[in-house]
Amino acid sequence: MYGIDLSGKHALVMGVANHRSLSWAIAQSLAKAGARLCLTSAGERLRSMVEELAVTIPGTLVLDCDVTKDDTIDAVAKRLGDEWGSIEVLVHGIAFARKEDLEGEFVATPREGFQMALDVSAYSLINVTNRMRPLLEKNGAAIVTLSYLAAERAVPSYNVMGSAKAVLEQSVRQLAYELGPKNIRINALSAGPVSTLAARGIHGFTDMLKKHAEKAPLKRNITKEEVGKAALFLLSDLGSGVTGEVLYVDAGYHIMGW
Ligand code: NAD
Repeated sequence: MYGIDLSGKHALVMGVANHRSLSWAIAQSLAKAGARLCLTSAGERLRSMVEELAVTIPGTLVLDCDVTKDDTIDAVAKRLGDEWGSIEVLVHGIAFARKEDLEGEFVATPREGFQMALDVSAYSLINVTNRMRPLLEKNGAAIVTLSYLAAERAVPSYNVMGSAKAVLEQSVRQLAYELGPKNIRINALSAGPVSTLAARGIHGFTDMLKKHAEKAPLKRNITKEEVGKAALFLLSDLGSGVTGEVLYVDAGYHIMGW
């Protein structure tokens, strides 16, 4: 795809829930470029959906992984170690906050809601990277995680997820610094709003889509395929000189002052 050849590369893609998932768009880009895929699904409820998608890309593995459970992460590392021996591409498209913590006042966020959102949406990047490290270090690797502008701006209703994204982006910089000598690159892709399962949990999301399209220089919202293309750049040799970066795929929205 676009002259990018990822054949012989092994890509672990975490965070596919259904065909709307940004991780699924990235998985499709990677597959078109020839990468071998493993998709992880979080729990029985999503497994059949992820399996239905996986069969459209022959040879794709589907494994269970709930990032709040270290043993499930280790089981993925073990299986991929046995089956592949190395991972060259890792996609982290995972986020979660309780519905009640994405409504009402941010100032009243309870401790358990804060901890849950930061654990699943930010700490998981550090923990998964660490547990996959022997496989990532084998041939060097590129990692991409998905962020949002609420990491650095106040966004109505984004509440605790904004805190999680701020931690996520700083973790990207710290990991890039630490893992660079092992030839592991890590970047965040900050996407504009796209209608997905997770996005629908944000109160007023439809209004957000409308306002975003009005204000963005390109006068539209982005597509998930555009996220897939930008990720392919960061995850392939085209992005070989880029690490610790946050790349905005938001139709230019973030540059605007008002
Ligand atoms: P999505 O609902 O399709 O994906 C979220 C994924 O997180 C799901 O696959 C879900 O199973 C997974 N997940 C939640 N808890 C988990 C756990 N404990 N263990 C393992 N996996 C778990 O929605 P999406 O919009 O594609 O979200 C992917 C990423 O993109 C998220 O980090 C999200 O914050 C980010 N993002 C989304 C938008 C948007 O507008 N859709 C914009 C910017 C950033």
